Amino acid sequence: MKQNSKTKPSSKAKPAKSKAKTPVKQNSKAPIKAPSKASLKPTSKTKQSVPLKTKASVKSTKPSTIKSTSKVKPKPPIKIKPKVAFYWCSSCGGCEETVVDLEEKILDVVAAVDIVFWPCAMDFKYDDVEAMPDQSITVSFINGAIRSSEQEEIAHLLRKKSQIVIAFGACAYMGGIPALANLKSKAGILERSYLKSPTVINKEKTLPDEKKLPQFYDTVYALDQVIDVDYYVPGCPPTSALLAQVVTLLLKGQLPPKGSVVGAKQSLCATCDRNSSKPDDLKTSVVKRIYQIQADPDKCFLAQGILCMGPATRAGCEGPCVSGNMPCTGCFGPLDGQDQGAKLIGAFGGFHTAETEKQVQEMVDSIPDPAGTFYRYGLSKSLLGSKRSNNKEGRS
Ligand code: SF4
Ligand code: SF4
Ligand code: SF4
Repeated sequence: MKQNSKTKPSSKAKPAKSKAKTPVKQNSKAPIKAPSKASLKPTSKTKQSVPLKTKASVKSTKPSTIKSTSKVKPKPPIKIKPKVAFYWCSSCGGCEETVVDLEEKILDVVAAVDIVFWPCAMDFKYDDVEAMPDQSITVSFINGAIRSSEQEEIAHLLRKKSQIVIAFGACAYMGGIPALANLKSKAGILERSYLKSPTVINKEKTLPDEKKLPQFYDTVYALDQVIDVDYYVPGCPPTSALLAQVVTLLLKGQLPPKGSVVGAKQSLCATCDRNSSKPDDLKTSVVKRIYQIQADPDKCFLAQGILCMGPATRAGCEGPCVSGNMPCTGCFGPLDGQDQGAKLIGAFGGFHTAETEKQVQEMVDSIPDPAGTFYRYGLSKSLLGSKRSNNKEGRS
């Protein structure tokens, strides 16, 4: 992960390993009490029971208006803007692009909020955040998975300083693409990257010096496996429309109940234009990959024998892949309470027509990367990978 070159990681001074053992305090003081029956979409009935805390509202004990006998009109009260932080952990930078992709709407966002920390775009230091009062940041959007001691340390710092923490994007929400590295060990990754990759020339066999650098963990964690998280925004990356929706909900005080995933409550198939061509009784003998056939642009991919994660994926992305004649790979993650890979593997079990052991093997062989296919974005939180990443006994 690239950090702002001027941004000083303070992980050397305070090893994150010891912090990791400290139980993360729940945000019990957070003033956001979302209504219990609030839906993800704001409705006129959805009200924020307690307004967002601002520095002024926390500290001021003076009456909001002062009676004056002079003829000078009282000044209107100063509106305190919500303070917003953006941070990236183990991230490709795509989630940060989503903010930029707001285009002209970004001007509305910048006018409505104070951005107090955004290492990707602005020259803030970690020390600046450390100097802020606790919970003085209204909301922190954190993208990327947790792969190093520096990322964990800053995640803890932002949790302490923020009223609301949002896991933004598939990597922060579920581990994302970086979590596929959990299929390998740290030693194996370093060996491949620094010694054995065909494009690497490293005659001295130099490896990263962890005495000088943040510790590179053996395991990739989703954000809520390290700190308490209030909301999740899915997608790789989330759409700008979804980000705009979250900011609007925040500004209107209409955020859903804590722990919600901001997105649709139905599967992608329910919103897909091809759904009407999805036969009730799907049958296929092998899984074809998109490059192997000329896909019919109007027909359900599953009906064409192409694996599409739509049945096991949350809607809300506006379907850019399927409308571009590419099957869904599942970046919006599972619906509440489901294991995305298990759901599709289970469904696929009913689709195949294999009857002999040989035919079953052919079917299995037609999916060359099962973990990367069924758990591309969510290995850290999946049934398959969560045992490893749920280890809270210190990072390694
Ligand atoms: S969710 Fe996707 S776009 Fe965002 S940081 Fe992860 S890989 Fe990049
Ligand atoms: S499986 Fe894919 S193509 Fe078929 S209806 Fe669902 S999302 Fe659309
Ligand atoms: S279609 Fe699937 S992979 Fe594509 S953006 Fe939507 S959820 Fe993500």
